[in-house]
Amino acid sequence: MGIVKNNLNRCTGFIGSTNSYDKADIVIIGAPMDYTVSFKPGSRFGPQKIRELSWELETYSPYLKRDLEGKNYFDYGDLELPFGNVAKSLDIIGEAAEEIILDGKKPIFIGGEHLISLPIIRKIHAYHGEELVILHFDAHTDLRGDYYKESNSHATVMKHVAGFIKPKNIYQFGIRSGLREEFLWAEKNTNLFIDEVYQPLISLIENIKNKPLYITLDIDVLDPAFAPGTGTPEAGGITARELLRSIHILKDCNVVGMDLVEVLPMCDAGDITSAVAAKIIRECLLSFF
Ligand code: MN
Ligand code: MN
Repeated sequence: MGIVKNNLNRCTGFIGSTNSYDKADIVIIGAPMDYTVSFKPGSRFGPQKIRELSWELETYSPYLKRDLEGKNYFDYGDLELPFGNVAKSLDIIGEAAEEIILDGKKPIFIGGEHLISLPIIRKIHAYHGEELVILHFDAHTDLRGDYYKESNSHATVMKHVAGFIKPKNIYQFGIRSGLREEFLWAEKNTNLFIDEVYQPLISLIENIKNKPLYITLDIDVLDPAFAPGTGTPEAGGITARELLRSIHILKDCNVVGMDLVEVLPMCDAGDITSAVAAKIIRECLLSFF
């Protein structure tokens, strides 16, 4: 696809982003795809709204006593995707991920729906190999084999990932929705923590902290009270504070990439979901990138 090296005119960049792709260690990139969702669409508008809300943040994190000013990250803007064409869109997202990785940089993808994670994780896995550990934060298992007989869906993404990554290297946190079959499958195959995020993460951090980690964060892991702007809100989630503290547990871990997905600005209330998403990205940038 050819990354535009100085792409400042297409949109407002994430707060503090530099204007040089070449000098950046981290690349923020939007994947505005939302056409396989099972309920409300519109997350294609997520990346741009999150960037906009990032400007209401400070660049300083009092939790970490670190400032974005010391960080070198480039906001590419959003990928141009052929709306409605799932296969082609996933190809373009995968190619972008590969280019960023091969350039020695770490990607932060902003969705878009959760299926965007599939081509990214494929490329990350191809590069980092069998050691790679996936940390999946979500209300939903995302382990369906298909959704209305369609295997490409935001509800199947982790099942696809478990097809090429050892399921035992997949950790799922905050999960509270899925079919009985999905939970039974997870019990035998992945590491799934119902409801909980902080406690299980802290208990396993010693085992994973030296491995390459990839984070896939579906915003609906948060309770809808904290993140109403999402397509399939699921009651009973964690607080924004618990999620931020969980990110801080991963301080200085070897995180090789991440995505944050399923923010749906048009269902939001006062942009609080985009605001918390922007803050999550800031804390991720400062905690482990
Ligand atoms: Mn979800
Ligand atoms: Mn999901």
